Amino acid sequence: MNNDVVKILVLDDEPFMLKLLGQILARLGYRSVTTCDSGRVALGLVDNPFRCPDLILLDINMPEMDGVEFVRHLVEHHYSGALILVSGENERVLQSVGKLVQAHKITGLGHLGKPVIPELLAALIRTWLPPSSAAIETATRIYGADELHAAIANGELVNHYQPKVVVATGEVVGVETLVRWHHPSDGLVFPDRFIDIAERHGLIDELTRVVLAGALAQARRWQDAGLALRVAVNLSMENLASLNFLDYLVDVTAEAGVAPQEMMLEVTESCLMQDPRVPLEVLTRLHLKRFGLSIDDFGTGNSSLTQLRDIPFDELKIDHSFVHGACANDTQRAMFDASLGLAKQLGMDVVAEGVEDQADWDFLREQGCDLAQGYFIARPMPAEDMPDWLVDWEARRAGLNPVQAQQAMQAGGVEARFSNPWL
Ligand code: C2E
Ligand code: MG
Ligand code: MG
Repeated sequence: MNNDVVKILVLDDEPFMLKLLGQILARLGYRSVTTCDSGRVALGLVDNPFRCPDLILLDINMPEMDGVEFVRHLVEHHYSGALILVSGENERVLQSVGKLVQAHKITGLGHLGKPVIPELLAALIRTWLPPSSAAIETATRIYGADELHAAIANGELVNHYQPKVVVATGEVVGVETLVRWHHPSDGLVFPDRFIDIAERHGLIDELTRVVLAGALAQARRWQDAGLALRVAVNLSMENLASLNFLDYLVDVTAEAGVAPQEMMLEVTESCLMQDPRVPLEVLTRLHLKRFGLSIDDFGTGNSSLTQLRDIPFDELKIDHSFVHGACANDTQRAMFDASLGLAKQLGMDVVAEGVEDQADWDFLREQGCDLAQGYFIARPMPAEDMPDWLVDWEARRAGLNPVQAQQAMQAGGVEARFSNPWL
């Protein structure tokens, strides 16, 4: 969609702002811009198939219907376009409204303070490409339990692996297994679209068994190739609700020839869990059998202090929402520090999830966080892409932590890892 056809609506109660934003957008080349000072009128436009905007610039403070209320109505009116928040409110308020927009599953492009800087507005709009209706349909399709069941049976689920590295040295010490569905017509479907269905329809054990079998076979291949990688697998609390699962896990791990210490089991709480006694028993016994236990998404509603108190976790993963951007956000930083301090007091290793850029990485080094995982290091990838990534990472690693990387080179660490013919 080019600038001529993209329909933009500016909603603000101040006539001056409407005029100013209209002018800025015209200068940026947008021809189809409507301005409006009332939420009620704007919703009328959303309902009109010929005038419904692709993008709304929304003021949060408006006397009649404020921006927060307007966002709720947008959902009720099935708005499928994008949104930019514009307000003179402080950063925390803008972030709260941003989170609300996200929770409503509206495409939020970001927020702008007042006065609006034209370059920032242009940059935000550039991050967005209105999806085609076919893409929207694929992205919002809800899969049925039967379809998922068949997919598991037909081997359409595949494992991707995302590296975990030591922050102080950049050394790669493990990977997290993340399942994907190679859908015959929709392409790669991500787990947030089907794990929940598996949990609700009694398919999660079947799914986990397939993921585990793949992860264990891969762990063994890496082990045989001389690569010491601890392989993490995500477990649902539903898996832990049966004692059979424990026996199964112990048996398949032994059959694969992988030591329990080389496996890490990542757990989050599920709202479906009724009786915590069986999961508590299973996790405690897995700990006694030397499987590593990790509390995932720490800090979100899914992972609580109660779990931390009751279950002998070895590792705590700080959720990405507290990691990315923490260096520039006092609230996030305080929560990150508190989680790190808590884990350290309990003698646990800490993994920061969602490390997306150099600033995040530098922040973790300053804070003394143990391990990092995120797009800055590597995106989840099929196992066959790991060797090439490892070579690239060794080259990048030297620039990230120069002193330690040099020490590792001197100790022959890098050569030793790469003398393996498998790589
Ligand atoms: P998780 O266990 O917290 O996994 C981390 C998620 O963050 C993954 O999403 C990963 O792709 C994503 N991620 C990695 N680096 C970054 C980054 O730098 N920034 C951001 N924003 N995200 C990053 P993915 O693969 O879509 O998985 C989502 C969730 O689905 C997982 O969250 C996990 O809870 C669940 N899941 C994945 N595989 C399985 C599985 O085999 N079994 C179960 N029960 N759950 C699984
Ligand atoms: Mg995980
Ligand atoms: Mg997580």
